[in-house]
Amino acid sequence: MAAYRVPHPRKPQIERHSRRQTLAARVVGFVLLWSLVGLMTLVADRALPREHLPWKTLTMIDPVGASTRIKAARAGDDPAACRAILAQGGIEFSEVPPTAGECGVRDAIQFKSGLAPLSPAAPPMTCKEALAFGLWERQVVQPAAFDELGQAVVAMDHYGSYACRRQYGKAEGPISEHATANAIDVAAFRLADGTVISVARDWADPGPKGRFLRRVRDGGCRIFLTTLGPDYNAEHRDHFHLDMGGWPKCG
Ligand SMILES: [Zn+2]
Repeated sequence: MAAYRVPHPRKPQIERHSRRQTLAARVVGFVLLWSLVGLMTLVADRALPREHLPWKTLTMIDPVGASTRIKAARAGDDPAACRAILAQGGIEFSEVPPTAGECGVRDAIQFKSGLAPLSPAAPPMTCKEALAFGLWERQVVQPAAFDELGQAVVAMDHYGSYACRRQYGKAEGPISEHATANAIDVAAFRLADGTVISVARDWADPGPKGRFLRRVRDGGCRIFLTTLGPDYNAEHRDHFHLDMGGWPKCG
């Protein structure tokens, strides 16, 4: 004979009541959480300098802050805004006509004035690479030169920005950021008195030259998406590779 169980008449009602309470608690929690986020955002907006706030527009006069790198990378998604930031910072440049293909260059510029000149002159750079480079020169290189060496950097030597090649010049593997002019290799810094600070020669210097180079590398890591120097590997023993592509990397 089959067992007979008397159904509990109150159970469905209790379960419905419990579900309503759970839903109400979740809604209240959600509202409280977003109210807290909104309040913290408002406080941060008033209390923190703009270089730490990702929703504030990037400018060339802001010191390097917690949000500088993300803002510089984002500016590259809007070439018109990127060029406007450079122009507002007093940097003159010309636009490079776009090219197509795997090594096509788009939204690139060449500096004309407003920064320490590069040698060879006016390498093409994507706007976001140029923007990061301009910030680095203004907010990292020049202050470090004055602090450590007591004078300005008046020129920088480089090994190139644009080259249609794969990483490390290999026959196979990922395309280099240089293939789209989204990188530059800086090798030396020329000071006002004629002194040349070379990455290859002075990286290990324990004095002001070495301190200057390490500050320049560390500052690069807070602006460029990728900053690689002699500490990273032997391929970078004589230059800083500075690019605005891929995942953040510092070495
Ligand atoms: Zn490079």
